[in-house]
Amino acid sequence: MLLFLSVGQSGLGKSTLVNTLFKSKVSRKSCSPSFEEGISKTVNLQSVSHVIEEKGVKMKLTVIDTPGFGDQINNLNCLRPLDLEFMKRLGKVVSVVPVIAKSDTLTLDERQRFKERIRQDLWTNGIKVYPQKEYDEDTEDRILNDKIREKIPFAVVGTDKEHQVNGKNVLGRKTKWGVIEVENVAHCEFANLRDLLIRSHLQDLKDVTHNIHYETYRVRRLNESNL
Ligand code: GDP
Ligand code: MG
Repeated sequence: MLLFLSVGQSGLGKSTLVNTLFKSKVSRKSCSPSFEEGISKTVNLQSVSHVIEEKGVKMKLTVIDTPGFGDQINNLNCLRPLDLEFMKRLGKVVSVVPVIAKSDTLTLDERQRFKERIRQDLWTNGIKVYPQKEYDEDTEDRILNDKIREKIPFAVVGTDKEHQVNGKNVLGRKTKWGVIEVENVAHCEFANLRDLLIRSHLQDLKDVTHNIHYETYRVRRLNESNL
């Protein structure tokens, strides 16, 4: 079992993104989502489970959607000191995958500059994000993961709707100037995020959680109880 926790300020697009993840291509094979009623403002912790099948391996995936982190402190929109402190702590106990939500609201230039700023902030604040360099096992791993690290944070777009594009139903957001296709890598990086989370790195995420994060936690608790 793998647990995804979706955190961030309310209104950011978390619930929509969680829905998109379950409606996107990989998970269409899985059990039907129980989230169909549409999205209302998340007021409690909500947990949705799916059994997904990748390469013949079945795995229970549970996503916990949170109401919003740091809502009480409302000034700038992104990476406020509280977020940085929170992410720093989070990065020590779980795998953190930062994303830029609603990236359809940014121009390409803005997206690029925002990415660079976030990367800089992560680095200067010593925030560990997944996949961590120190856990690359060999050169092959490193080459693959470097490609992912170059893209982090993924600039994603979420939706709860499908639209017809060239006769096909696609997940997208319809605007006056066309449909932003959520799963089209030319439009945004949602597909990269989905592939990382539930395709290429699903097993690794599980291993890192078990062998590193849980083990570190266990040893720390044991030491505390022996004081
Ligand atoms: P949450 O509070 O973080 O769970 O945010 P929601 O998922 O409820 O989304 C808040 C609002 O943002 C809703 O009106 C969504 O339709 C909208 N929204 C969600 N994802 C996107 C996105 O990728 N792009 C745009 N433009 N709007 C989005
Ligand atoms: Mg929500």
